[in-house]
Amino acid sequence: MATKKITAQQIIRQFEQSFPKSYAMDNDPIGLQVGTLNKKVTKIMIALDVDMRVCDEAIANGVDLIIAHHPMIYRPLQQVLTDTPKGRTIEKLLKHDICVYAAHTNLDIAPNGLNDWLAQAFALEQTKVLTPTQTLQLKKFVTYVPVECALQVRKALLAVNSYEQNGYRECSFMSSGEGSFFPMSQTTPNIGKREQCNYVQEMKIEMLILAKDEQAVIDVLHVVHPYEVPAFETYVVDQPGPVVGLGRIGELSSPTSIEAFITDVKSASNIPMLRGVGIKHGKKIRRVAVLGGSGSSYWQSAKRMGADVYITGDIGYHDAQDAIESGMMLLDVGHFTEHLYKQHMVKFIEQIIDEQNATVRVLEATCERDPFQFM
Ligand SMILES: [Zn+2]
Repeated sequence: MATKKITAQQIIRQFEQSFPKSYAMDNDPIGLQVGTLNKKVTKIMIALDVDMRVCDEAIANGVDLIIAHHPMIYRPLQQVLTDTPKGRTIEKLLKHDICVYAAHTNLDIAPNGLNDWLAQAFALEQTKVLTPTQTLQLKKFVTYVPVECALQVRKALLAVNSYEQNGYRECSFMSSGEGSFFPMSQTTPNIGKREQCNYVQEMKIEMLILAKDEQAVIDVLHVVHPYEVPAFETYVVDQPGPVVGLGRIGELSSPTSIEAFITDVKSASNIPMLRGVGIKHGKKIRRVAVLGGSGSSYWQSAKRMGADVYITGDIGYHDAQDAIESGMMLLDVGHFTEHLYKQHMVKFIEQIIDEQNATVRVLEATCERDPFQFM
């Protein structure tokens, strides 16, 4: 069977439809960090961080692209010195033609991204954003299609329209009318005659889209619309789009004792211990907030939103003191718990590859360990 080759760029373009760079926090150095996306890939590795061990595992497995959560170059790099671990890792990556792409806060913030995966791991239901970071812009997309092609065009457009409102997606409106066009001498119209005005029974298809999906919708329109020059327009609408943000808050299916919940959290996070703050023994909890990574400073958002307990990593001493004073319970599962994202990301990238009918293997980095040891 022939193996269809695919470039890193083709994969990343589709990846960024779900995890757009525009979702990221300011100054987060996401995206391509090492190498080029302009090359064919056959093996992809998903990692939490890119250090020397991950780099060696990638080399041993013939990986061409590493997708990591944490950017490996975070602060401006002044030098690449090959006798330092960072410089040596970059040197090895370049020598082995391995590129590194980071999806950090855009992955944290995106709907159905890292924080939803963590919320799912902790069995939270009816989840909402914990701390909004931006309101997405909505646009109206309108196109005019000959009647006989309208259903097919609408179906293709809805498939790339990710906008959903209160649980409804694939919303559109279609109405009929008569279109006109005059193809001039240099054109090759699919229907109608040159050098005269043609009148065609058309359907007008309209839908709200997220501004981030505009290019994808237009690209699909160019593929499926029968006209040489598809007729369409987009414009900004006033109503605010959905809110995206960091962390999630949701409910357990039934009230659970904090002790039982801690047992579940440790097992879901695959950790032998966690650090608790302000734990009230015997207390039943229902509403839980979670924020992967270093979420110490967001505990007040969790409290404001009525969470009984807040799960995050890297909780600082003073935040812990303040949380106790205001009666809030915190669970520090460590920053490394974000590694749970890898299994979801493997599936996500495999789906992109399947959709493109390509043959690429996607692996999880297996060498990564929590830098903190439980003694
Ligand atoms: Zn992190």
